[in-house]
Amino acid sequence: MLPDKTHIKTIIIGAGPAGISCGYTLLKNGSDCLIIDRKEFPREKICGGGLTPQAHAFVDRIFNGLNYDYMDIRAIKMFYRKKYICSYSIDKGLRIVSRRDFDYTLLKEYEEKGGQRLTDIITKIEEEDDKIYLSLLSGKKLSCDYLIGADGANSIVRKYLQPDFKRGFLWLEKTVIENEKKDLQVYFDNRLKNGYLYKFPNPRGYVVGYGDRHTNTATFDKLLKEYDLMPDCKTKGAYIPMFDKQDYPFRKNILLAGDAGGYVDSITGEGLYFAFKSGENAALSIIQGKDYKQLNQPLMDIVKRRKRMARLFYFPPVHRLFIYLSGKPKWLERINRRVNRELSN
Ligand SMILES: Cc1cc2nc3c(=O)[nH]c(=O)nc-3n(C[C@H](O)[C@H](O)[C@H](O)COP(=O)(O)OP(=O)(O)OC[C@H]3O[C@@H](n4cnc5c(N)ncnc54)[C@H](O)[C@@H]3O)c2cc1C
Repeated sequence: MLPDKTHIKTIIIGAGPAGISCGYTLLKNGSDCLIIDRKEFPREKICGGGLTPQAHAFVDRIFNGLNYDYMDIRAIKMFYRKKYICSYSIDKGLRIVSRRDFDYTLLKEYEEKGGQRLTDIITKIEEEDDKIYLSLLSGKKLSCDYLIGADGANSIVRKYLQPDFKRGFLWLEKTVIENEKKDLQVYFDNRLKNGYLYKFPNPRGYVVGYGDRHTNTATFDKLLKEYDLMPDCKTKGAYIPMFDKQDYPFRKNILLAGDAGGYVDSITGEGLYFAFKSGENAALSIIQGKDYKQLNQPLMDIVKRRKRMARLFYFPPVHRLFIYLSGKPKWLERINRRVNRELSN
């Protein structure tokens, strides 16, 4: 429901993890805000749905132990092409969610606490006298003091700040609805450049997906056939801002959070923790009157470090060594410890 007034202190575009985290934090602190999303919820979102230990700890903290449906996964089975290499044990568990249901649960929680939301599409952004004016597809016009771009990898807010930005890597996915419980599997393959193939179980069934520098449907189908993973369902695609340069201007009153701001891990494509955290930081910078870039610096440092690590990790000789050592029990233990550390902080 849209409030009667047409000026709102903060307008957030996007009701995904970044937008909800921002809106919920503003709401808890009594700060006026409105979330606008182009989709009616529940809506489909292409995603593995893997919440790392640091992501689910963050969700527990910010949403006060909110109940949501997930699969508790304690091991990642790793393959090189079809050959099984090893299994990483995840001490604090990965929680795999169906994004359709998870995002809807978060949005309902925000609305039950009194949060305001509107289904509409932003078509135009303009600025005058320190105010931001938004035109919506419905014909409505709204204004705000702060605009949060939490509208994903194709962000219209990012486009406004940086018209020529690149969206990152395309990833393809198939969603399968079934009851049988599955393992979490990751397939590396020397034919993929900076990417991998995965199978993630979730409470509704499972998803299979893949992405790299040159993602295309022909390669996806070929790999699925070769790996006997071919589910007979539709392929959908979405971008992940991997290797994003985050080279847009940081503004005081227009802030980018989540995928819109390029906050993802360039090794795995993980973005949920980064979306939640940057969304919270955007809200805190408004509430506390602090510089967003400064507040976000630790997160940006992690994103940059993971980008450097990704370049090394996917460099073919290093990647081959990593696969080889993962198959050696003594090394596996060390790598497994590192994996747990990276997923937890
Ligand atoms: C194939 C794939 C697999 C992934 N797997 C994982 C994983 O397992 N674990 C993980 O941590 N991350 C994963 N990610 C990344 C993760 O999905 C994103 O990082 C995360 O969704 C970012 O959240 P967000 O809130 O920034 O954006 P989104 O979740 O994309 O939400 C953006 C919202 O903005 C709305 N919107 C967009 N444009 C407009 C507009 N013009 N007007 C109004 N509303 C608009 C959209 O409808 C959407 O609801 C995956 C991504 C892909 C593509």
